[in-house]
Amino acid sequence: MYPDAIRAWRAWRVGVFEPASGAPPEVFLRSCVHDAYWTPGEPVIARCAAHTRPSLSCGCGIYAVTTRDAALEWAQTTARAMPMPLVIGEVHVWGRVLRFSSGYRAQYAYPYSLEVLDEGLPVELDPRLVVRQLRDTYVVDVTRTRARRRLADSGLAA
Ligand SMILES: [Zn+2]
Repeated sequence: MYPDAIRAWRAWRVGVFEPASGAPPEVFLRSCVHDAYWTPGEPVIARCAAHTRPSLSCGCGIYAVTTRDAALEWAQTTARAMPMPLVIGEVHVWGRVLRFSSGYRAQYAYPYSLEVLDEGLPVELDPRLVVRQLRDTYVVDVTRTRARRRLADSGLAA
């Protein structure tokens, strides 16, 4: 889709919209830090008051990391700071891309594939619905990683 794109990894927050009609909740990707939505079907563009393209002298740009492990750690760190549903996945980044040893800051990005982490989802949010909606909305492959058994659950499950 984007010939010069680099494939990297990142973490996202899952935004949930509950329609008043009682229809199933709609889920979408958000930045972990900002309130920015990742609009389905179009590249996400880095926004900064000072630059149109990511600058070394600034913290702007769309962040990505080089490995799945780093994305997982990103998600876990974010969840510790503020519990929220999270997904990780591969992301295409392109345009002006600043390269660092641990990752990138890019001008443009779009998800390439997503991985829903059961562990971070609230109990009322069905992981299968999250997988289906992200797949249909962003038109990417979406897989699901089931939760490891949590300490709090052990002994409670039948
Ligand atoms: Zn900037």
